[in-house]
Amino acid sequence: MTFRATVLTLYPEMFPGPLGTSLAGRGLAEGLWSLEARNIRDHAIDRHRTVDDTPAGGGAGMVLRVDVLAAALDAVAAEDPKPRPMLAMTPRGAPLTQAKVRELAGGEGAIVLCGRFEGFDERIFEARKVEPVSIGDYVLSGGEVGAMVLLDACVRLLPGIMGAASSGEEESFEEGLLEYPHYTRPVDWEGRTIPEVLRSGDHAKIAAWRKQRAIDDTRLRRPDLIERHGGAREAPPSGAQ
Ligand code: SAM
Repeated sequence: MTFRATVLTLYPEMFPGPLGTSLAGRGLAEGLWSLEARNIRDHAIDRHRTVDDTPAGGGAGMVLRVDVLAAALDAVAAEDPKPRPMLAMTPRGAPLTQAKVRELAGGEGAIVLCGRFEGFDERIFEARKVEPVSIGDYVLSGGEVGAMVLLDACVRLLPGIMGAASSGEEESFEEGLLEYPHYTRPVDWEGRTIPEVLRSGDHAKIAAWRKQRAIDDTRLRRPDLIERHGGAREAPPSGAQ
């Protein structure tokens, strides 16, 4: 099974962009996943190839038309050998999580709608079972960069992409925690040394230290993650480093 990504955008020339480089790019070249960027404008229904119109109720900006969006989604779905989830990038969506990324990476792929202007006519979400996804609490000028974020996160989890370098299972968010910190040579740098325990060769002690740092750092930087996963985690104070 190959993970298939189709992006619907007004700027297909933005793809593959960064997804054509490094791990994702190699995966694309090796056929471990596929990426197609289609122009929403190709599904416009008037001779001016209009994709947007003024907001109902007034206000600034333009809104992507529901009939054009539906035509674009329907055209992709009609060709799909197996149905894929339809997602739309929007700051009004549920925040993207590693759990969602894992779920998507385990499936057939995704059809991703990228907004521009003021965004999508709201009726598209229910009418075509489109899931709204946000990449964070800030506003981008378009959904393309968000789609790249989403696809990059999915693709690196696909079999064969990361190879033996990492399974991804110990990484941030996988256990509801941030990952522990990393160090590499030189051991001494500007008077700062790599924590002693990491140089001890004692694997049990290293594992315990890492677990503790993951908990401590998450508590400090992302208390919301600790709350979300059942409140304060029981662990003795680390004192390490
Ligand atoms: N008027 C919209 C609002 O306030 O919710 C913002 C529209 S934004 C200028 C244009 C497009 O950028 C959106 O339709 C969406 O596709 C994309 N976008 C902006 N911020 C995003 C975010 N945080 N996550 C995902 N997509 C985003």
